Amino acid sequence: MASNDKRCEFLHEKAYAISLMATTNNTLWAPWRLAYVKGDAQDGSEGQPDPTSIAPEAWPLGADPGCFLCRAMAAVGHERALGVLERTALSLVIINRFPYASGHLLVAPLDHRATLEDLRDEQLLDLQRCLTKWCGLARQSLQCQGFNIGLNLGKVAGAGVPGHLHWHLLPRWDGDVNFMPAVAGTQVIPQALSSLWEQLREARDREEVADA
Ligand SMILES: [Zn+2]
Repeated sequence: MASNDKRCEFLHEKAYAISLMATTNNTLWAPWRLAYVKGDAQDGSEGQPDPTSIAPEAWPLGADPGCFLCRAMAAVGHERALGVLERTALSLVIINRFPYASGHLLVAPLDHRATLEDLRDEQLLDLQRCLTKWCGLARQSLQCQGFNIGLNLGKVAGAGVPGHLHWHLLPRWDGDVNFMPAVAGTQVIPQALSSLWEQLREARDREEVADA
């Protein structure tokens, strides 16, 4: 699908979600997202790889098979199902399956580490490079005007997976609806995650061709 068509589709879905929001104060999960939400089970269902099917040598040293970030790092060949956008030698960029907002990405170190002090300088640098690169790609591809970037360090700070550090990268648009969770307890997820994955991977591929 051409990128303009995708942009139109995205805007249409966003407008649709906002129109729905006018009539309810409940969470607005787009119906096509249900499979993604339900598909986070660790039993290999819903297109997810079974952890036991992943070759032992694919797991990073110290990986936790129960950790979705470690699993995404190891499950090469399952990029679309897992929402993996990029693996570098040190980091992972993945679409958040339980997004706060459309385009919500996670950037994590290769290693299953819970504190910043556990990371080496080269790992910290690579994470910053990934955040920088994917801000640029999201800006180009999603036409967002800004970002919130944050790290929930520890369970008490809200980390969903406290054992594996991950930075949240949230695109922001002028007039977007991110105030809704705070004001009305409403979340809006206007874009199918598979569509987002395709859109961002295309942006990455275009940049790689341009850099070649
Ligand atoms: Zn992990």
